Amino acid sequence: MAIVIFFISHWLLCVFFQSFFQHRYAAHRMYSMGPRTEKVMHLLTYLVQGSSYLSPRAYAILHREHHAYSDTENDPHSPHYFKDVLRMMWHTKERYTGILTRKIQPEPRFEGGYPEWKLVDETLGQSWWAVLGWVALYTAFYATFATSPWMFLLLPVHFVMGPVHGAIVNWCGHKYGYRNFKGADKSRNTLPVDVLCMGELFQNNHHKYGSSPNFAARAFEIDPTWQVMRVLSKLGVIRITTPQRAVYPEPREVARQSGAGAQVA
Ligand SMILES: [Zn+2]
Ligand SMILES: [Zn+2]
Repeated sequence: MAIVIFFISHWLLCVFFQSFFQHRYAAHRMYSMGPRTEKVMHLLTYLVQGSSYLSPRAYAILHREHHAYSDTENDPHSPHYFKDVLRMMWHTKERYTGILTRKIQPEPRFEGGYPEWKLVDETLGQSWWAVLGWVALYTAFYATFATSPWMFLLLPVHFVMGPVHGAIVNWCGHKYGYRNFKGADKSRNTLPVDVLCMGELFQNNHHKYGSSPNFAARAFEIDPTWQVMRVLSKLGVIRITTPQRAVYPEPREVARQSGAGAQVA
């Protein structure tokens, strides 16, 4: 039971911090917070993501490239340009590492506005000793609490939790599910209540309304990370700064359809 609780908690916390800190804060700046709160969130993100911690700078640049070139050949991870998910993950990893180590120079428009902390992002985040330390900690937990050998099959997922979430969101979110909004890219909403990836699977809504902090757009859709953000905002921990909110159906589309209807009549 301890293993199942640990696995589910680690899964949800990892993807929550990826969505909340690296995606909605570092890449999109959807909210602001005081410098001390930012440091706490930055450190919490590292502690939760452990061996698969993603640098907010590299994540933000890669993600801004994804929005600008979504589902074109310049998209760092479009499922429509790779034969399988592993090839997509490898290509994403290569580009991410190039940006992280500054061997790849991104377009200037994708830089800036993200939190940087040398101790966490470079000294700890890029240290193989730190990664091995996390791997040893996860293994020790399993060695202590596993009650059946099959549980050890879950252990490697902890080591690479961040890339696993990235692969699910980038592959499924641009391939499987329904579309609320037309657009040039192939983004989709994979789950109407995204408990699996804490709202990240509303890719179609998010690509249409890139600054809306609530990734849900319709009455039946639920974005768990936004629900947490609402509470943090009420408590004064963060301040939602972007005024944009997703609107369904899209007003322009409604106007276009009623205009076409009027012409037919
Ligand atoms: Zn996307
Ligand atoms: Zn985004």
